[in-house]
Amino acid sequence: MPQLPTALANREVNAIAPQPQVDMILGEVHAVCGVSFTVRQHETLGLVGESGCGKTTTARVVLGLRPASSGSVLFNTAGLAGTGALDSALDLLKDLQEELGLSYLFVSHDLSVVRHVAHRVAVMYLGRIVEIGPAEQIYERPAHPYTQALITAIPIPDPDKERYRRRVLLTGDVPSAVTPPSGCRFRTRCPNFASELTDDQRRLCAEEAPQLVRRGTAAPVACHYAEERRLLTGIPPT
Ligand code: SF4
Repeated sequence: MPQLPTALANREVNAIAPQPQVDMILGEVHAVCGVSFTVRQHETLGLVGESGCGKTTTARVVLGLRPASSGSVLFNTAGLAGTGALDSALDLLKDLQEELGLSYLFVSHDLSVVRHVAHRVAVMYLGRIVEIGPAEQIYERPAHPYTQALITAIPIPDPDKERYRRRVLLTGDVPSAVTPPSGCRFRTRCPNFASELTDDQRRLCAEEAPQLVRRGTAAPVACHYAEERRLLTGIPPT
């Protein structure tokens, strides 16, 4: 594991500083675009999304394995633990976090595992963060349709509850990062765009990329028509 950069900034670990945002261009592909988040002291931030969403690229930039095309990555402390069997590794990471006040960026496509370890969660799609907030908020009342699709895809261990799970289904495949859709990058797979929006609303989705801001929602979300939905997940919290 590489040595992380030395102390900068304040008591928080600014994994990717809010200003300026970090862009990451691989060849002709804008792999990560305008990504910005902070990992606080004593905090685990889960970074989730499907394969190809940009979370691994983001982690590589944070670790200094790849340079950012623009923007900056700031750390004020560093400490990484080894890994072994998943459960014992997660327990070890939690113990170290409590003892030493460590901060973690936990990157995974497994949302069940992330639910067990993360205090906050950032959801990525095609190189952008589409929703970020406290884990409880993201898992119980997500506002972005992509987050809702990811969360409702998780099977519920309780068979009685599982019968009532209602999935938010995605249409189509992940588009190419070389030629992402105009406006909202998620629109070609968005169930709301496909069947619930008016033509005028669709036009806005196609012409204007939604910014990651609060829209009457508890957590920042990048969707023009974000709406929190209370979901039945059955996943125990951290
Ligand atoms: S901005 Fe439009 S296309 Fe994008 S997620 Fe929201 S409703 Fe769907």
